[in-house]
Amino acid sequence: MFLEPHFKGQRSGWIEVICGSMFSGKTEELIRRLKRAKIANQKVDIFKPKIDTRYDNKNVVSHDANAILSIPVESSAKILELSEGIGVVGIDEAQFFDMDLPDVCQQLALKGTRVIVAGLDMDFRGIPFGPMPNLLAVAEYITKVHAICQHCGNLATHSYRLSKDDETVVLGEKDSYEARCRTCYHMGNILNLRVQNNKKEEEKKDQGSLKMFNEKP
Ligand SMILES: [Zn+2]
Repeated sequence: MFLEPHFKGQRSGWIEVICGSMFSGKTEELIRRLKRAKIANQKVDIFKPKIDTRYDNKNVVSHDANAILSIPVESSAKILELSEGIGVVGIDEAQFFDMDLPDVCQQLALKGTRVIVAGLDMDFRGIPFGPMPNLLAVAEYITKVHAICQHCGNLATHSYRLSKDDETVVLGEKDSYEARCRTCYHMGNILNLRVQNNKKEEEKKDQGSLKMFNEKP
């Protein structure tokens, strides 16, 4: 588990990145770290790209006394403007931000801010997502979190899209994606067909036994 580094002498800022596939608990880990900072009496905010409309405009991530405000912004430059005086800046869904995000994070860190970024490292095609690879290169600390493959139970690193949509940004409702390990991800649709066929066979069996049950002797 990630523990905050100790600094001697003058306090300086740094960048932490939490990355992984869908359903890997990135946001949970981001919130865990921010809550700890809040308990340590530090000013904390979360920024997220405005593109993510799954949630309310300005909402609060946790509902206890340590509530953290989550602010939707149009661009990474806006984070610089709005984070004046905030000791710990959280950034969620970082993959949807523009390519200036790594630069913005570095400017914040230079000013003494602790920056914690969470985002998908790969898109559904398995390609590094938006500003994430550049962020990983400049960060001091990187944590890769894993989901569990929904087919075989191994550690999952890939987000498999079940729909045939080709756009990169299809916001993740749970039923449009699956977390998969490398092998199951590359088996692609073959696995889907197998699962569907198994389901059909099970249904047939169920119907068969129901028929037997209903038939009068
Ligand atoms: Zn698997």
